[in-house]
Amino acid sequence: MQFAERMSLLGTETAFEVLVKARALEAKGKDVVHLEIGEPDFDTPKHIIEAAKDALDQGYTHYGPSAGLPELREAIAHDVGRSRGIPLRPEQVVVTPGAKPIMFYVLLALAQPGDEVIYPNPGFPIYESVIRFVGARPVPIPLREERQFSLDVNELRDLITERTRLIIINSPQNPTGGVLPSEDLQIIAEIAVQHGIPVLADEIYSRMVYEGEAQRIMVYDGMADWGIILDGVSKTYAMTGWRLGYGVMPEPLAVHVTRLMTNSNSCTAAFTQRAALAALHGPQEPVDTMMAEFRRRRDVFVEGLNTVPGLHCTMPKGAFYAFPNISEVSASSQEFANYLLQEGGVAALAGKDFGTYGEGYVRFSYANSLTNLRKALERIADCVEKFKR
Ligand code: PLP
Repeated sequence: MQFAERMSLLGTETAFEVLVKARALEAKGKDVVHLEIGEPDFDTPKHIIEAAKDALDQGYTHYGPSAGLPELREAIAHDVGRSRGIPLRPEQVVVTPGAKPIMFYVLLALAQPGDEVIYPNPGFPIYESVIRFVGARPVPIPLREERQFSLDVNELRDLITERTRLIIINSPQNPTGGVLPSEDLQIIAEIAVQHGIPVLADEIYSRMVYEGEAQRIMVYDGMADWGIILDGVSKTYAMTGWRLGYGVMPEPLAVHVTRLMTNSNSCTAAFTQRAALAALHGPQEPVDTMMAEFRRRRDVFVEGLNTVPGLHCTMPKGAFYAFPNISEVSASSQEFANYLLQEGGVAALAGKDFGTYGEGYVRFSYANSLTNLRKALERIADCVEKFKR
């Protein structure tokens, strides 16, 4: 079989590969603490599950509109509009199976060979993968530890060329747990409006911040015309396996993204959309409870990492990832992550899997029990000891 050339451009998300390796080790009897996969370890709240069951009983088992059920688009426009303090219309909303397709579709709709797309590095690996896949040139904007993993707006300004077609930002961030401060978001918005460049704001972790409220780029002047929000229920409501995400964008782009849905998925599963409606309209206490638990784990885990000689870790301000610096370890991030898994029994991801600026770090997802996190800390300390320069 001969494959299309473009397939060689497509990257991957190693979390799924490390999960398979970890499961294989477990099958051979090794005890592994799973800190690799980026999903809350909580159950989906009961009322959401009940809403899905009711929907199945009520016959939400058929095709629906490609852009999503009207009642869900309306609820998203209202919810997103309220949290960002801007008026939004349901026509600006496209519902997709998980939030990931929004990245894919927006890049397909906006970027082509010869174009450039600016994206955060270290960052979610799918940005770079899909930018390459559509034939555009990935232009990394570094997120540096000394800036608490925010970007340098002056550096961003310098990266803009007449070929720049999109700027991707992510806050709170995967893999660093960093957030972009409001002053920076305002300047990014000004740069985007001045140059007429759309901004894809990946806000999938926007309800997962530990201090105050998440800052949103959409509140700034002109962003109604240039902003694209990516969000969904996966992380906020512990619904990763339901596959329900959405994009909110200017209407002309929503028309194209909807056509991409028609050409690929037809529509998102109807009963999961009804469940998402229950998530948005229902009690929000489960989100607060989950975040309180994540905060406890973050404090224990990050403080624990910082007591390991040879490691230092910036306190994450959002999401559920810790991204410690391992530059005092005499191994690459890949070698160290491999050793951690094979010998230490801790599944983690190499920083380089999040881009070149991720080398010298590893990513731990602290979506695991305090008992397991404490066990992981001991194992990590032993592994670091073996490699310490
Ligand atoms: N954006 C970021 C930054 C993520 O980390 C993830 C998932 O890990 C996604 C988007 C995808 O979310 P979903 O599971 O809804 O497709």
